[in-house]
Amino acid sequence: MERTIPESAQQTISQDEVSEIRRQHRASIPGLHHGAYQRLWDKAMTGRSLRAAVRSKCLDCMCWQPGEVKLCTCVACPLFPCRPGQRRKRTLAPFETP
Ligand code: SF4
Repeated sequence: MERTIPESAQQTISQDEVSEIRRQHRASIPGLHHGAYQRLWDKAMTGRSLRAAVRSKCLDCMCWQPGEVKLCTCVACPLFPCRPGQRRKRTLAPFETP
């Protein structure tokens, strides 16, 4: 039996479309703090900084309001434990006692 792929799944997005979508998204980022949020997004989009990616996503999610990220209540979000403003507990080494 031959399987057919739905037409919607056959559509691919061209590199030009990707570039345009990214350009539009970047243009929608507020240019506050001398473009710091745009630079953060640029850094995230290089794929070399997970910290920048998480920070940029959380800020984007909360309309670029850092204070709102700290107040996020979406405990089911996979980024919740890593969102900016969280102090991570240092894991104890096996020889250390709490
Ligand atoms: S942790 Fe909160 S602010 Fe960050 S992406 Fe998830 S829902 Fe948004």
